[in-house]
Amino acid sequence: MSHSKMEVRLLFPTREIAEEYYRQLVYLACRTCYSEQKPEEIWQRIRDGKVRDEKMEQLITKVVQSGHHSTIEHIVFSFSISGVSRTLTHQLVRHRIGVAFDQQSQRYVQFKNTDDIFVEPDTIAENSEAHAVFEELRQKSAEAYQRLVELGIPAEDARFIFPQAVTTNLIMTVNLRELIHMCGLRLCTLAQWEIRRLFKRIRKEVMAVSPFFGRMLVPHCVHEGFCNELNNMDWHCKIRPPLHLAQEVFEKWRKGELVERNPQS
Ligand SMILES: Cc1cc2nc3c(=O)[nH]c(=O)nc-3n(C[C@H](O)[C@H](O)[C@H](O)COP(=O)(O)OP(=O)(O)OC[C@H]3O[C@@H](n4cnc5c(N)ncnc54)[C@H](O)[C@@H]3O)c2cc1C
Repeated sequence: MSHSKMEVRLLFPTREIAEEYYRQLVYLACRTCYSEQKPEEIWQRIRDGKVRDEKMEQLITKVVQSGHHSTIEHIVFSFSISGVSRTLTHQLVRHRIGVAFDQQSQRYVQFKNTDDIFVEPDTIAENSEAHAVFEELRQKSAEAYQRLVELGIPAEDARFIFPQAVTTNLIMTVNLRELIHMCGLRLCTLAQWEIRRLFKRIRKEVMAVSPFFGRMLVPHCVHEGFCNELNNMDWHCKIRPPLHLAQEVFEKWRKGELVERNPQS
């Protein structure tokens, strides 16, 4: 069988580190902008327990909503990601700012066991004829790779035989600003299924160490209040209304055409 398993693990921070430093660091960045005190003095007040958690969260929420996003670049999250396809990572590494990747090399790693290194989409796995086609190609490409290696072809060239379904492992470290941006795009219902699945796991991992920051990881329409995806003009995804509908409602409201409904009347 060719079902490789996606695994996602948040390596850093641990829950203890997130609780002890993450809100505090972002609060420090926000507070520094509005205070006469030096950052180290603000930090000492925080470390001495003189700033309540709710106060920190309120200020951070306000600053983030205002778009002062450099403040959330001070904290990072490192993930171990494995068993994902190169189709996924080709999309993932298009993100360029505030994120670092280190990915298993197909040049330096020679695959000895090629039985379980392919991701099979559900649409193929659930269709017996399609699955047979996939399985045939998987076996052929695995055999061709091993044969090329036996013939003395270096791994960096033998890998040319692999389809995009071949799996890979990587580490990704990303600051919170970019993580919110990436989740905004990749948790969208229009994102490709495998990368969307990855970001759902990423959100779950972050929620486990910090529900406060985890709640910020949502499709971008949730932050913006409307959907600007051209492929959702028919509003089949109901998370937020398409931009043109939101604008129509706003125009009506501006002209006084919207009357508030009284449920009692
Ligand atoms: C649903 C979906 C479909 C897609 N389809 C395709 C496709 O068909 N073909 C394709 O090629 N790609 C496609 N992409 C990839 C997409 O075009 C982006 O390359 C990818 O999402 C990376 O996002 P980003 O550009 O925001 O980069 P990030 O590195 O995440 O950048 C973060 C932000 O920093 C700023 N920024 C980054 N670099 C620069 C710069 N050089 N100059 C100025 N500002 C910058 C921008 O504001 C940017 O949004 C798709 C993405 C999604 C989510």
